[in-house]
Amino acid sequence: MKIVFATNNVHKLEEIREILGPSFEIVSLSDIGCHEDIPETGETIEENAHQKAAYIAEKYDHDCFADDTGLEVFALNGEPGVHSARYAEGTDHDSEANMAKLLRKLGNNNNRDARFRTCIPLIQKGTDGKYHEVQFEGEVRGHIATEKHGTEGFGYDPIFVPDGYDKSFAELGDEVKNKISHRARAVKKLADYLKKA
Ligand code: IMP
Repeated sequence: MKIVFATNNVHKLEEIREILGPSFEIVSLSDIGCHEDIPETGETIEENAHQKAAYIAEKYDHDCFADDTGLEVFALNGEPGVHSARYAEGTDHDSEANMAKLLRKLGNNNNRDARFRTCIPLIQKGTDGKYHEVQFEGEVRGHIATEKHGTEGFGYDPIFVPDGYDKSFAELGDEVKNKISHRARAVKKLADYLKKA
């Protein structure tokens, strides 16, 4: 079964190919010749992920899934949420600036509870010839440390400590993270669904 994953992130592509195995052909955006910037103008990660998958299904007429992730800090009313990649003004995927802003805004707040949430919509053409969408979600709960720890991973990993551990994702590394992370959990649900279908 051939499905487009609306990403060019090599790490994400490898992760999903490994989980799904050889009976699924997972192709990237560049594999289908899509080099344009897909609009991500939603106000939630669900909307953004849907926009990406729907764009590919409509424009390229392919079965497709997409992903979008946000870090939600409860004391900040869910910030940075859908704005996680560009939280610090005028930046794009600048992890240092994003973490600095988050630590500054949280200050000495005792409530540091947070979660990562990943949303994965899958759009497939049914026997009726129409596209149908199902959404999968994964989350991991934890808290925001008072300072950065560790060097592995990316994004907010140095300041996120998952529940049940006393180390940040950046200290725990991929082996632990790939078992318990928001993305791993959402990808597992997608894989279980596709394998049953
Ligand atoms: P994306 O939707 O996967 O591109 O994620 C959006 C943003 O959320 C990224 O730019 C990162 O700042 C943050 N993020 C997503 N996943 C993770 C993670 O596993 N660890 C730390 N930060 C993450």
